[in-house]
Amino acid sequence: NETLLSVQELKRHFDLGKDTTLKAVDGISFDIKRGETFGLVGESGCGKSTAGRTIMGLYSSTDGKVEYDGVDIHKMSEKDRFDYLRNMQMIFQDPYASLNPRSTVFEIIAEPMQVHGLYKNKKELQARVHQLLEDVGLNRDHANRYPHEFSGGQRQRIGIARALSLDPDFIIADEPISALDVSVQAQVVMLLQKLQKEKGLTYLFIAHDLSMVKYISDRIGVMYLGHMVELTTADQLYEKPLHPYTEALLSAIPIPDPDIEEARERVILEGELPSPIDPPSGCVFRTRCPHAMSICAEKKPAWQEKEPGHYVACHLYE
Ligand code: SF4
Ligand code: MG
Repeated sequence: NETLLSVQELKRHFDLGKDTTLKAVDGISFDIKRGETFGLVGESGCGKSTAGRTIMGLYSSTDGKVEYDGVDIHKMSEKDRFDYLRNMQMIFQDPYASLNPRSTVFEIIAEPMQVHGLYKNKKELQARVHQLLEDVGLNRDHANRYPHEFSGGQRQRIGIARALSLDPDFIIADEPISALDVSVQAQVVMLLQKLQKEKGLTYLFIAHDLSMVKYISDRIGVMYLGHMVELTTADQLYEKPLHPYTEALLSAIPIPDPDIEEARERVILEGELPSPIDPPSGCVFRTRCPHAMSICAEKKPAWQEKEPGHYVACHLYE
């Protein structure tokens, strides 16, 4: 089975009372293939983290389906659910907030294995933690120290070691480099790529812009206000973006891309991201789209496969 994760028309709404609903994720579909890195990109507030958490099972879904290895995760038996959660781990944006400041690095990394009853022998557990530290470019002397003694990049390495402790197949990385210095970002990305090769991992890599995702991802989905607006291979997305929002995101990348001959014209998006409580009618992007037409306010654009594997939702292509 080539597809590891299949997300179908997934919705996650939050009921805020007084007949108010926040449609954080409003019907997104995509597959992730075994061994690939799928980038999920969009501005903060577009629903990408909520999508990650719903896939992870941390939030229940409002509608739609998530299938892992062909099994619907919301209909799993207790046993399958336990295996699922073990197979799927998360890396967070702020490694400091996700590491208990009063625990040693050893305790932090060992905890998931203890919860799952693995490595009951103390010596074996120790050896396993030391191995994990080495896998992420740290060493065994770090085991007895506390999170505050490390730099941001090192803390993210600790978070990665913890995520790897249960030998997962699939990792959701929610903006794992956004909080790091630019000089450290590339190192963490290279580490994630090395680990992917060594351990055959599949990644869902969540990011708020397209600058690093290009180098990491095989395919990329672009989200706007709870909707998926474009999905294709990383190369296609950069060379032939179709959706006006993707064009705007690409034009915002500060460093000129040597692969692209002419500089992209900077597309400045007017206005703020609308609220997902009261999204625009028709196309959710229309209030900021430089190409908006009258039909865009009336009709929601269909999600269509414009070229093989290249999906877009925009009336310009209908
Ligand atoms: Fe712009 Fe209309 Fe396309 Fe939406 S459907 S992105 S408003 S042109
Ligand atoms: Mg987020």
